[in-house]
Amino acid sequence: MNNNPLWHGKPYYSLDAYCKNTFGQKLYKAALDAGFTCPNRDGTLDTRGCIFCSAGGSGEFASPFSDSLSAQENIKKALTVASMQKNCDRLIAYFQAYTNTYASVEKLESLYRAALNHPQTAGISIATRPDCLPAEVLNLLSKLSREYTIDQSGKNAKFIWIELGLQTTNERTADYIRRGYSLSIFDRAVSQLSQIGIPVIVHVILGLPGETKSDCQNTIAYLNKKSVFGVKLQLLHVLKGTDLYTDFMAGKFQVLSQNDYLDILIDCIGHLDPGIVIHRLTGDGPKDILAAPDWSKHKRMVLNTIHHEMKIRNIYQGIWEEK
Ligand code: SF4
Repeated sequence: MNNNPLWHGKPYYSLDAYCKNTFGQKLYKAALDAGFTCPNRDGTLDTRGCIFCSAGGSGEFASPFSDSLSAQENIKKALTVASMQKNCDRLIAYFQAYTNTYASVEKLESLYRAALNHPQTAGISIATRPDCLPAEVLNLLSKLSREYTIDQSGKNAKFIWIELGLQTTNERTADYIRRGYSLSIFDRAVSQLSQIGIPVIVHVILGLPGETKSDCQNTIAYLNKKSVFGVKLQLLHVLKGTDLYTDFMAGKFQVLSQNDYLDILIDCIGHLDPGIVIHRLTGDGPKDILAAPDWSKHKRMVLNTIHHEMKIRNIYQGIWEEK
């Protein structure tokens, strides 16, 4: 059993533990839908999107911005609602839906500043694609980072995180899911973000069609060698209305059972560098459009089972990490 005090009793380094260590409290996310689109949907790369992506741009729980309000007003409204729902006073403004660096630099700067300037935000987290980080966006992130996270001190400092959807390092699977960029593009983005001091959180999907445990291990081994701050390990879930749903209904693949998911997930955690913060361990599909797997609707039960299984099997993050 690993008793790392920084992990606060869990067998892995969770986002909650990181926030308690760093900010002295748990931070909740206010998920935002700031009206972006995505090159994989607007025709630049494709019109169909990633095969699993829903009409909401993978941001079903995000608060949509209203056209009649300014960026500041929209952000204030979303943060007020989130803070009441979660009963907390400090939040992460999470630009979640679609590709949140895919707009003019002027628009991005105004949105990010509005979120960073809000008194209740501890920082912002920006979900995007690695092929949507041109030099002018990197310059903006670097400028804001210097201004908000380095030049300010003490409790007023704010963080800026970037979340990248990698999903897998298997290029064949990447083609199937229509990710739309190669691993070398992801590599370059992570290096560029690291050079300007922006922490990167990587989204990985476990249970992709055709993938085995060893594909997942390859993805984890790859991330261990990159300078990434965090990872989201997400279960593949099938949402109605997606092309993945069409393939699922046609019997082209099966979703993971809960036991198979636990087995793959625990194996991934055991191989993951213990310094990488785990931001998520399950899928979180909206119940009204979730087609499968049905067991994933019971998120609390799934999380409890993961913790329990890791404890009784005496497995903790990094136990099998290869240096
Ligand atoms: S990159 Fe994100 S928003 Fe764009 S299609 Fe893929 S999952 Fe959807």
